Amino acid sequence: MGYETDLKLFIDGVWKGSDTGHTVVNPVDASAIAEVPYATKADLDEALAASERAWPEWRATDVEKRGATLHKAAALLRERADLIAATLTQEQGKILAEAKAEVLGSAQLFDWYAEDAKRDYGRTLVRPAGQLSRVIRQPVGPVATFTPWNFPIYLLAKKVSAALAAGCTVISRPPHETPGCTTELFRALADAGIPNGVAQLVHGDADLVSRTLIASRVIRKVSFTGSTGVGKHLMKLCADSMTRVTMELGGHAPVLIFDDCDLEKTLDMVVPQKFRNAGQVCVSPTRFYVQRGIYDAFIKGFAERTAKVKIGNGLDDGTKMGPLANARRPDAIETLVQDAKAKGARVLAGGERGDKGFFFQPTLLADVPNEAEIMNEEPFGPVAVSRPFDTFDEVIEQANRLPYGLAAFAFTENGRRTNLIGDLVESGMVGINTFAISVADAPFGGVKDSGFGSEGGKEGLESYQVVKAIHQA
Ligand code: NAD
Repeated sequence: MGYETDLKLFIDGVWKGSDTGHTVVNPVDASAIAEVPYATKADLDEALAASERAWPEWRATDVEKRGATLHKAAALLRERADLIAATLTQEQGKILAEAKAEVLGSAQLFDWYAEDAKRDYGRTLVRPAGQLSRVIRQPVGPVATFTPWNFPIYLLAKKVSAALAAGCTVISRPPHETPGCTTELFRALADAGIPNGVAQLVHGDADLVSRTLIASRVIRKVSFTGSTGVGKHLMKLCADSMTRVTMELGGHAPVLIFDDCDLEKTLDMVVPQKFRNAGQVCVSPTRFYVQRGIYDAFIKGFAERTAKVKIGNGLDDGTKMGPLANARRPDAIETLVQDAKAKGARVLAGGERGDKGFFFQPTLLADVPNEAEIMNEEPFGPVAVSRPFDTFDEVIEQANRLPYGLAAFAFTENGRRTNLIGDLVESGMVGINTFAISVADAPFGGVKDSGFGSEGGKEGLESYQVVKAIHQA
């Protein structure tokens, strides 16, 4: 399927090239597939000026009209889903079915926020007759977004759809691994008639783009998804300009498997979920704590299913897992697996990298000690780690032992235990007998080192608004 190699920046309604850039590679075999132009300082200044110019008119645009533009963009994403999904697979490696689901999920976000923004009511306070005090929310202003390569369209759509619906203008810097598919999101907005300067795309050097945008007084809000380290760095830059932030950072999701779960059904759910997007998911189920009585049966069933996961080119029928997204990932996973083995972990499936491209085998490690780096550092790859537990209190302590707190999962049929897990686990999202935690109408975000602020749901819209209290006597 065709891959658009003529990539451009989208600034003030104009598609433009640049003299500098970066080579985009296909992670299946590391072959070059395109050159992405990098924004210069002058391009960024132009984008900032356009964003500031466009904001007053966009915020004053009737919410119905803003919504209609977003609905149109959603329809175009659906119409072009096959082409965009193929581009995503070639740039990032995930299998075509997952890529298409990502595009359709992104369209749903635009539809959802187009409607949600219409129901933003504010409130009035109780006052004596003749007086009025009201609380309103207003768009925060021009927004800068920085998004990663694991769900390059969906994570970008989460930010852009909510910000535009709230009445903000947006400048987005997508990751350099996936410029083609992210460009398609802006093409859909452009073709839907988004006014010049309202939604702009600046590929480029991450440091230059983030420093320039954040230092500018034009940008009133930064929304970042990525690693905790880069998140902390961007927060420091934002402190100097008192810029608001939403930080969607790493995770290390615990999965609590109790002996009353339906074992076969649970295994059929958790194994494909672990290897979805080759494990490069911030809410990927990672630390499997299994009640001792079913531990052996669980890891045996997990290993058998893992060995059957077919890896290959995500464009090919039958492939269940593609390569990792960039050369850094197999290197990092190999180091973590070697370290765990040296510290006593058993490799029950996989454990090796591929001989070409950025592949790493779907891997299960058992009896992994807490001292192993992989029990502490987000693996962000196709590796599940497991260990047995005995008591409820013990497993809650293990689940909460890391500085991360993004998602947690549990499999049990016990209702009282379910309630307790919901209360006691330190995370922004909890899935009990389900992995469906990233949906348009619910907040998604972390606690502790996993960041703060929510995307999705009403909370996602509010993150692009400021609150004002107006009192009248
Ligand atoms: P990274 O931290 O270098 O980059 C993460 C993202 O931030 C990338 O898209 C990158 O382009 C961008 N980025 C990097 N430096 C930046 C800067 N100065 N300003 C603005 N944006 C910047 O990580 P990586 O090597 O791409 O991935 C390593 C780790 O990051 C993973 O192991 C995982 O823990 C984490 N990660 C998390 C998510 C998530 O969804 N939360 C996504 C991708 C990566």
